[in-house]
Amino acid sequence: MIHIRSKDEIEIIRKSALMVSATLTEVAKFLKPGIKTISVDKMAEAFIRDNGGVPSFLNYHGFPYSLCISVNEVVVHGFPGDYELKDGDIISVDCGVYMNKYHGDSAYTFAIGDVKPEVLQLLKVTKESLYRGIAQARDHNRVGDISFAVENYTSKEHGYGVVRELVGHGVGKDLHEDPQVPNNGRRGDGKKLKEGMVVAIEPMINMGTREVKTLADGWTVVTRDGKPSAHFEHTTAVRRNSGEHLSTFANIEAAETANTELNSSYYSLVAAV
Ligand code: MG
Ligand code: MG
Repeated sequence: MIHIRSKDEIEIIRKSALMVSATLTEVAKFLKPGIKTISVDKMAEAFIRDNGGVPSFLNYHGFPYSLCISVNEVVVHGFPGDYELKDGDIISVDCGVYMNKYHGDSAYTFAIGDVKPEVLQLLKVTKESLYRGIAQARDHNRVGDISFAVENYTSKEHGYGVVRELVGHGVGKDLHEDPQVPNNGRRGDGKKLKEGMVVAIEPMINMGTREVKTLADGWTVVTRDGKPSAHFEHTTAVRRNSGEHLSTFANIEAAETANTELNSSYYSLVAAV
């Protein structure tokens, strides 16, 4: 069943979505080479609880952590653990927050230190494809219009692999609701979008082919060719003329930039010595 949310409900979902964004901003400040991914998870869980939320993912169908942390060739649903981030890694952090009986869901892929230009390009294109999808989340469009926008930009224009096994989704009282929002599809196909629907749009884009496999832990999804994969996600309200993302990357990007400047001033200091 697809829900049409009232104005008030959308504002409540926005609060949850913005708590996810605040959490991902804390993550952005925290990330650097040498950090164990489990410590990112612990920090985020404490931040969410201190702010009156509950991590949506913890115990969801048995998922054992608060964040999905997916490094390099891991597409989504990676387990936080003892892995130490290193210069040149990319790390997708997917986070959900449950507050006031509604969920918010958003994901961001961060570059750690000096990442290869072609991998940075994958991040840039994947993020842009999310916004192209959001632009299609408007009244009277269909789900396929979102899917087509994402696939056309990433696959047709940039030659990347679009993951099909995992999809976006409605989000609200439940973390995953109808409709499913694939990242591949045809214009005009699928369920009709109506103002007041809230969907999580989340392109999962591979640098190489679209093929993925799930590891023996039953969760971790990796690229078959071992090449990197990127993931960006916004909780999005369907509006009359365009989707409106309820989560935001603004503060995450500001923290990322501050981090980079800090690092480069450090490196230029080192170079000067
Ligand atoms: Mg998510
Ligand atoms: Mg999601």
